[in-house]
Amino acid sequence: MPAGGVKRPPEGQGPILGRMNSAFETVYGDVQPLDWLCLAPHPDDAEIGAGGTLIRLAQAGKKVGILELSRGEKGTQGTPEVRVQECARAAQIMGLSWRGQLGLVDGEIMDTAKAAHRLAATLRAVRPTVLVVPHFKDRHPDHFGAYHLSKRAVHLAQLQKAYVGGEPHRVSRVLLYQGNADITPTLLVDVEGVQEVWAAAILAHESQFAGAAISETVTPEIVERRRARQGYWGTLGRVRYAEAFEAETALLVDPEAL
Ligand SMILES: [Zn+2]
Repeated sequence: MPAGGVKRPPEGQGPILGRMNSAFETVYGDVQPLDWLCLAPHPDDAEIGAGGTLIRLAQAGKKVGILELSRGEKGTQGTPEVRVQECARAAQIMGLSWRGQLGLVDGEIMDTAKAAHRLAATLRAVRPTVLVVPHFKDRHPDHFGAYHLSKRAVHLAQLQKAYVGGEPHRVSRVLLYQGNADITPTLLVDVEGVQEVWAAAILAHESQFAGAAISETVTPEIVERRRARQGYWGTLGRVRYAEAFEAETALLVDPEAL
């Protein structure tokens, strides 16, 4: 079975996945067990919301990946063909180990059984320890849809009897990253040292940020705007710039490190 292949259910017990024989497409790097995987409803979401943290981890030798749930084909600017090239370029800049696309329909990302099985199959293939997902408060329907979809997929990926191919996999921790809504972070990550790389990774998505501003996120000012937010979180964390996350479960810490 190819990487990402989907095991067919026994006769009479499906098929949820129909004729599909591959859950995802690799656009950069190699399929391999990852330390961190960030889910992005559209190309560039991961860079904008969690890019500094992902870059820091990659620079520290961690295996980091991004999975786009859609190709962003309904975006006003760019085409899927152009955007996938931009994704590969950004992946190289960030030092990612793997980047893939799930190929769900842009504008229709939601918690369905079919989509959850495909995402679960992908989780089993790249086996992340930490999964970073959009926050459920995001105002974009694809973003909160991605959050709810991820919940079902994380559950399915660990079930012995889920017909999604590959060996069961349990994600150790889920973190929520910030989109277009205020959040109450439970952890902050210092990203001052990776500002230049982070900006370059975002601007690699040239089709989105080189033209006229058309929304709060599709604007040449995106780096400036998000850096201002990082400055705010940085103030709370007593560093210059920080990215904010919410942990789904309580973090166990060494009290001596506090
Ligand atoms: Zn998005």
